[in-house]
Amino acid sequence: MIKRMPGSWGPALNRLRLRRAYRAASTRLHRDAGVGAKRFLFIFSDTGGGHRASAQAVKDEMLRLYGAGVSVDMIDLFVELDRWPFDRFPNWYPSCVGLNGIPWGVGFHLSDGKRLVGALSRLVWPYTRSALCDFLQRYRADTIVSFHPIPNHTLLMALRHLGWQMPLATVTLDLVTAHAGWFVSGADLYMVPTEAAKARALRCGLPDARVIVTGMPTRRSFLLAIDLPRQEARRQLGLPQEIPVVLIVGGGEGMGPLAQVVRAIGRCRPHAHIVVITGRNRTLHTELARMNLPVSLQIEGFVSNMEVWMRAASILVTKAGPNTLAEAFVAGLPLVLYAALPGQEEGNVQHVVENGAGYWAPLPRQAARAVMHLLNEQHACRLMESRSRALARPFATEQIARSLWDLADTPASPVQELVMRESSVSVLN
Ligand code: UDP
Repeated sequence: MIKRMPGSWGPALNRLRLRRAYRAASTRLHRDAGVGAKRFLFIFSDTGGGHRASAQAVKDEMLRLYGAGVSVDMIDLFVELDRWPFDRFPNWYPSCVGLNGIPWGVGFHLSDGKRLVGALSRLVWPYTRSALCDFLQRYRADTIVSFHPIPNHTLLMALRHLGWQMPLATVTLDLVTAHAGWFVSGADLYMVPTEAAKARALRCGLPDARVIVTGMPTRRSFLLAIDLPRQEARRQLGLPQEIPVVLIVGGGEGMGPLAQVVRAIGRCRPHAHIVVITGRNRTLHTELARMNLPVSLQIEGFVSNMEVWMRAASILVTKAGPNTLAEAFVAGLPLVLYAALPGQEEGNVQHVVENGAGYWAPLPRQAARAVMHLLNEQHACRLMESRSRALARPFATEQIARSLWDLADTPASPVQELVMRESSVSVLN
């Protein structure tokens, strides 16, 4: 018999208690929502920083537009379902995107097909059904909005199982190469960031009328910062005024070979101030702090005023994360992309490069060369700024919020039939 060491139950029990407290608090909050308010359930997961950031941006916009007329619950579905291995996805994400994103890319490509998504969802359905149906009953929203590609097919199965005709919308957060999980049949509205993402949705067999191009949701603070002069942004952040500022970021988790990129840029001795934002990656922060480079270097951890940093910057060096790109377009920044997650972010690189808004520089020395080129060639830099700005959709969040508000008044389509019809098709894509 396996004996548990005394005390080894502690963390597990604590986790259980925390989950219970979280559920009780969320249910209480839900019950306390304004009487007569339209109730929305936003589903996301902390697999990367972008899903939460986008959901939060839309939630804030809905509250700004409709005040007490609306209530929004934002739930990390995988954590809430409390079913292994799904509840571990947020913790595993940094490891999955490590090793140059190879494990992530394999998972992406092996599951990227409409019928594959259906087959996988049906496979996990017996295991997740009761938790998912309990969850939907607990939150009892009028409209469900998904900000994640994984749970959509299973959500539709749960709605069918419960016999509910509730509107479901998805907000796609990949610019071009969006995973098929975003585009399962049966939702009432699909909001996508670009025409290329819409074309992908149509290739997945969705009806044209249900897919609208809104742009990527970005926080309102980015829209408000459009008129913030660069000098003022630098003054607020205590940055030098006389020399260009090169901003380097790696998403919320400070991902990719950021240290090598910084070292390569430093060795070129640019006449510029370099700011690296390491996000939640403490190891990277420590590693960079120990570096001794012949350049003016500033290292920041997670910042909550990214819009000001972007307004202060002259050039942005980043991985091809969709949220960061959408924000950089609003700020009109020329881009140097040093990494992209295989699969979903590959199309982002294409979007930036084909539209002349930046360079693809997957090796640190290429990234350094691209930065030096932009610093030395003012004309190329200005041109890229204007091309980047041309890709911006600063009112995307408002359009998404208004569309969701309208959707809540629309009778839901008979999702059950659509999912059932799809379920009977072969799993071969
Ligand atoms: N971000 C932030 N502060 C930081 C680092 C990142 O607010 O210190 C935000 C960034 O503005 C963007 C998001 O985190 O909204 C990162 O999303 P992205 O899609 O670029 O990458 P992900 O982290 O999802 O891989």
